[in-house]
Amino acid sequence: MDENNQKQSTGGSAVLGTIKGSKKLKVFISIFSVLIPIAIATFCAMFLIIVITGGSKSSCFNTNTPSTSGGAAIGGDWKDENSDTHKAMQYAADQFKSRLHMSGTNIAAALAIGLRESGFNTASVNPSGHVIGIWQWGNGGLNGDRYGNTESTLEGQVGLAIKELTTTHVKALSEMKDADLAGSLDAWDVNFEILSLNDPQRKLPETTATAVEVQKIFNLNFNGDINVGDSQISNGDGVANSGSDSDMAICDSGVSGTTSGLPIKGKYRITGGYPNYDGQEGYIHWGVDFQTVDHTETGEESNVYSVSDGTVVTKTFDLAGGNYVVIRNSDGVYAYYGHAPSQQAIVVNVGEQVKKGQHISHEGQTGSATGIHVHFGVNPVLNNFNPHTPKGIDSPAKYLQNFPKQLVPKDGVVNPDMSTVFDASEQKDQ
Ligand SMILES: [Zn+2]
Repeated sequence: MDENNQKQSTGGSAVLGTIKGSKKLKVFISIFSVLIPIAIATFCAMFLIIVITGGSKSSCFNTNTPSTSGGAAIGGDWKDENSDTHKAMQYAADQFKSRLHMSGTNIAAALAIGLRESGFNTASVNPSGHVIGIWQWGNGGLNGDRYGNTESTLEGQVGLAIKELTTTHVKALSEMKDADLAGSLDAWDVNFEILSLNDPQRKLPETTATAVEVQKIFNLNFNGDINVGDSQISNGDGVANSGSDSDMAICDSGVSGTTSGLPIKGKYRITGGYPNYDGQEGYIHWGVDFQTVDHTETGEESNVYSVSDGTVVTKTFDLAGGNYVVIRNSDGVYAYYGHAPSQQAIVVNVGEQVKKGQHISHEGQTGSATGIHVHFGVNPVLNNFNPHTPKGIDSPAKYLQNFPKQLVPKDGVVNPDMSTVFDASEQKDQ
């Protein structure tokens, strides 16, 4: 990464890293001259929606209080076998048993989580309309679009769950194999709802009690025979997964109170600032670039480490971030690590639990970057970094306890410093 390239780039509304060569720069600028107005318009629209829906906290969608808006509403006391809700649950139980060979315990967990998420109501939508259905899938906009054009019927939604459990979210199914009730709840919540184990949204005591009741009332007392082929398991890798309601229902996590480490180890420079590349100048840059001193495309000294315990929620590629991985940290904040040399260089997979300090990825220069580095971003609100819309993106300097504070003149603004070598190993937290 050289300084000339960085100065060249300041005219464009680039997002990540530096731009290589004027030809690429022109293409990049022309792409973004279209994308930026769209992004701004989208942002304004989102803001309006949030204001209109009137949340007391603009970022807090109450997904646990489902509202019904027509369609195939299901109702009645789920314990009453004549109610539509009870019949819907029975249908799902039968499907999970016959098509996935889940155990009674597995099914009790899945149904109890459906009750928690929506009251087991196919017509349940959250106030903003961004999540929908029994298991509250993302329905476009802020929250990804797992729901797609699924028919909003019981059959459609149970079918979607089964499809996901055998493809993109197969880890939930494979971890349910031979699992007891607690293990089944963990498997579904972590790998299907993409919640961390200790997330309060799990309402674990209540959900467990519900599952016990579900198991009794529906007579779910049979063993399972889940058989997930290896080829299916590998389908779960590398699939962008920004769907379930849990991705957005973060109300109070904020970006303080973490004891995070840094995403790199050893000697490093800060080569890109926040919220603009040159701190308060240059193009918009919703993150900070870390570059280790002995950076290479393959060497261990360029490993990238998770700054927190968490769960991998996205592992994919786009033109801005290149190969990137997003981890939902245990405090609910999403952490983004961009520009890995390849998908293989990201050594964790969607659904996987990671520990703070665990090797997860590698510095590289895929996407919009010339130098080998990791682009690190934090997002306390939404799992949406593409291409780093401002909503929710906060300063890495505020989030990372051991960020070199001399680079932070005010309120999270980060000035890059190519001339100073910092040493992560001197930080007490590393
Ligand atoms: Zn960057």
